[in-house]
Amino acid sequence: MTGSIRTTLALAAAAACLTFAASAQQPAPAATPAIHAKPTKRLVVRNAMVIYGNAKPPYGPMDIVADNGVISSITPSGDRRSAGSTIRGAGAPGVNDETVIDAAGKYVMPGIVNAHMHWHEERQPGVPQPIQYERNLYLAAGVTTAREVGGDFDKSKRWQGESNAHTIVAPRILVYPFVSKGRTGSPAEIRAWIRDIKQRGADGLKIIGGWDRDQLEAALSEARALKLRAAAHIAVDETNAKDYAELGITSIEHFYGVADAAINGIQDFPPDTNLSNEVHRFGRAGELYAQADPGKLHAVIDGMVEHGVAWDPTFSIYEASRDLTRAQNLPWFRDYLHPSLEQYFKASVENHGSYFFGWTSSQEASWRKQYRIWMDAVREFANKGGLVTTGDDAGYIYSMYGFGISRELELHEEAGFHPLEVIEHATWNGAKLIGMEDRLGKIREGFIADMLVVNGNPLENLKLLNPYGTDVMLINGRPASNYAPLGAGDRVQNVHGGGIEWTIKDGIPYHVPTLMKEVKDMVAKARIERRPSTAAQ
Ligand SMILES: [Zn+2]
Repeated sequence: MTGSIRTTLALAAAAACLTFAASAQQPAPAATPAIHAKPTKRLVVRNAMVIYGNAKPPYGPMDIVADNGVISSITPSGDRRSAGSTIRGAGAPGVNDETVIDAAGKYVMPGIVNAHMHWHEERQPGVPQPIQYERNLYLAAGVTTAREVGGDFDKSKRWQGESNAHTIVAPRILVYPFVSKGRTGSPAEIRAWIRDIKQRGADGLKIIGGWDRDQLEAALSEARALKLRAAAHIAVDETNAKDYAELGITSIEHFYGVADAAINGIQDFPPDTNLSNEVHRFGRAGELYAQADPGKLHAVIDGMVEHGVAWDPTFSIYEASRDLTRAQNLPWFRDYLHPSLEQYFKASVENHGSYFFGWTSSQEASWRKQYRIWMDAVREFANKGGLVTTGDDAGYIYSMYGFGISRELELHEEAGFHPLEVIEHATWNGAKLIGMEDRLGKIREGFIADMLVVNGNPLENLKLLNPYGTDVMLINGRPASNYAPLGAGDRVQNVHGGGIEWTIKDGIPYHVPTLMKEVKDMVAKARIERRPSTAAQ
């Protein structure tokens, strides 16, 4: 016994040394493969372990065939593995209209639906941020569908058309414009506003700001009549999650409004509170869940489930509030943080979400407590049958596009969900939220060929989905579970690996290392361009 423990310890020490050496340098990106971003009549993904999307365990290896962007067959690869590249009598291999990806040793899952995001072309005024930066990062993180809940409506509609036509490299886009109460806030004006938005081609609505009950009733009944889905960022006001559920909201975003409906009386705001001051607003928001009556919170959750409301918690966007130093020092900032975003994140009363002025240990402690209660509430909501989805809301609060959605999945695991359930939140549940469950969100025949080819098994480690990759354990040069038994003489290494290799949208493969190389180049260029003006200040 003692001997074997000594051996293990010695191996662990060796591994620690290797960690240091391996993480000091990132592997050089591979050359861009010829099939990157090239439409193909037929796509074949061979030898894949399949994660279906509805939380059933993986199976395989399978060959997945997609014709014209739609999955046409999923068959065991066994008998074809030795057959070279001949596929189902489709004609000679290598013809222009057939693309083959070998997924041996990899896992294939549906593309991610990012249910809460915004397109940004600039964060800090005067420092443009090319839109391709954000598009690449989202694709690299496996986002094939992006529900934009508020943005520049006309631009987003144009990009939606271009994405659908594959003339740009971008996820599929759904446009849910901001809805406010208009000039007078009369129910008639609100109804007219919503009819106008529908007429201009909105895919849904994003309800934001504080609403009185009669105004909210007007907005949501008009939306229902026009068959528009609606997402809500609920403000502290007379309406809370109970009202939104009763009046027919499709999804509640973030944590807002839910605990508010479970407080005895109102939240205990000190007299100097000013909701227009974000330092106050975000500071006090971290005290919200601790003030909810637990019994009432169960009842609010019951009501949300009963009315078929979805909950898109966006855990990752507030994470800096519970551990600011972690958020400010993420390793991917070094090569991938655009200077426009970098500037925006710094404490500022001008920038939304940049509220970290003298952030204290007590505030972090409050937020940590808030997360525990909030996560338990989301878990309870799902246990009772509620639909939970994933969104990152990145571009604020030290959360970067793409990295945010990958972190979101990790936080769903922290909330108590099995990794298979987490992936279901990100794929199948996302498809249900946006009303595309008849064709999206599963690796299924007849469904849109949105698929991720992952380097490794994300069920073992969701960090494998991070565009930066993550540490991977090798035993004798082969990837291994970090619970694998170690024998004397085994060679143990910690190397940089993981990441998604291919993000496939509508049957078109995008090579993630290539997308990330492009992002790195954009950032390097922007930093050089910015240098003279920085020096002049
Ligand atoms: Zn948002």
